[in-house]
Amino acid sequence: MADMKSAVPPPPTPSPSAASAAPAVPACANCLALAADPRRREPPSCLTLRNSATAISQNAAGVPFSMMTFSCRDCGTVWRLYDRANELFVSWVPEHPLVR
Ligand SMILES: [Zn+2]
Repeated sequence: MADMKSAVPPPPTPSPSAASAAPAVPACANCLALAADPRRREPPSCLTLRNSATAISQNAAGVPFSMMTFSCRDCGTVWRLYDRANELFVSWVPEHPLVR
């Protein structure tokens, strides 16, 4: 691990370990549908909850919200589900822009 932080400049071609930072897998149909309708509460069947702990925080206006992280079994897209207090709708936000 320490070797990766040496002064050697990064190689011009992406290494396999960097692939997760820039996913090239096209988003599946379910994820594209979710991106088109990010306010629905029901997660698509391809999404699995990543961590059971729900993060509770506040936005800049002091409104509390909870966040859960999901990942797609089909295309690997990571989604964050934001659920604000006193709001009817949730919002799904992909961790990276979807690849079509
Ligand atoms: Zn997907």
